[in-house]
Amino acid sequence: MTINNNYLNLKDSYLFSTIAKKVREYSSQNPNAKIIRMGIGDVTRPLVPAVISAMQNAVVDMSKAETFKGYGDEQGYGFLQTAVKGYYAKKGVPLELNEIFIGDGAKSDLGNILDIFGTENAVLIPDPVYPVYVDTNIMHGRKIVFMNGNLGNGFLPMPIELNKTKADIIYLCSPNNPTGAVYTKAQLAEWVSYAKKHNAVILFDSAYEAFVTDKTLPTSIFEIKGAADCAIEFCSLSKTAGFTGTRCGYTVVPNALKNGDISINKLWLRRQTTKFNGVSYVVQRGAEAVFSDEGLAQITKDIEYYLGNAKIIASTLDELGIAYTGGNNSPYIWLKIPNSNDSWAFFDMLLEKAQIVGTPGAGFGASGEGHFRFSAFGQRENVIEAMERLKQILK
Ligand code: PLP
Repeated sequence: MTINNNYLNLKDSYLFSTIAKKVREYSSQNPNAKIIRMGIGDVTRPLVPAVISAMQNAVVDMSKAETFKGYGDEQGYGFLQTAVKGYYAKKGVPLELNEIFIGDGAKSDLGNILDIFGTENAVLIPDPVYPVYVDTNIMHGRKIVFMNGNLGNGFLPMPIELNKTKADIIYLCSPNNPTGAVYTKAQLAEWVSYAKKHNAVILFDSAYEAFVTDKTLPTSIFEIKGAADCAIEFCSLSKTAGFTGTRCGYTVVPNALKNGDISINKLWLRRQTTKFNGVSYVVQRGAEAVFSDEGLAQITKDIEYYLGNAKIIASTLDELGIAYTGGNNSPYIWLKIPNSNDSWAFFDMLLEKAQIVGTPGAGFGASGEGHFRFSAFGQRENVIEAMERLKQILK
């Protein structure tokens, strides 16, 4: 046999394992230290009651022959597609049910979608960004071009910055992980126009859309005219409703998206029906409940809680005169490290002097160096205490 040699081109991912190792070492040397973790992007609030009771009812369905479910449709149950369709309709985005594919989260679909695109495509990836886009393309051996985010462009690179670089597959993540920056409608319209002009496809990751509270900002690329001809959207209930461990997401592949006569929707359906056997019935019932009036009201409270944490972090940085993006409309705060360009040194300093754990920007790409990410997914009292400690060491 031979192997896929592209895998040998992957860099080891040291980010979270190095953080964990450093924290372990510090704890063993300082057993009484109260370490506050503001690094990892996992949620801390439990599933909301509407979801729990829907899942409990679904478990009962599975216990009776009349309501038991075996294999479901690979692309999801109609009841959940209908709930997602209703959610998009409220944003003013009409969808057909067959455009909505239910999956086990955005990470899988973001990686798997690459099956249906040629390996000769040039891929455009913002830097810094969620590292999965880079690694999944390296696995296929595609050429990657990075577009740099920086304080100058607000970590929102635009097509004009590409000069003559050509891109066939364009990743956009808004609200962005790690920077928390959110594209405006006018900015997304420029990307849509670029994609249409160059016959490119935009892979739009809206995993954090539920954190957008500013009504003028888009939460879906399909709010932009013409996007259905050139974009695919990936979303997830992980951060929206605490499904990081429960696993459910959805991908929207418009019927209008074509390459010549070939329907991208049909290719994705073929891929999914061949390689995927659907998300469990119980989880899909839980996901359906997220979109009920009761579910939406309950998850909104949790999102407000996280955004409240983000506000506390942001106002502390304001007080300290530290530049940052995010914090509004996003659970991440991305700060410019004062007087240094070494994000691992800043990590070590915060751990040593304040027992706070964050994420060094270098872990999200070369342009992330000199920056640092705080996540707002922690518990309120811990966030408050961490920010008090930060003020003491940085004032
Ligand atoms: N996209 C972004 C930008 C993320 O930050 C994450 C998770 O952290 C994901 C996708 C993956 O989410 P899921 O849990 O749905 O696989």
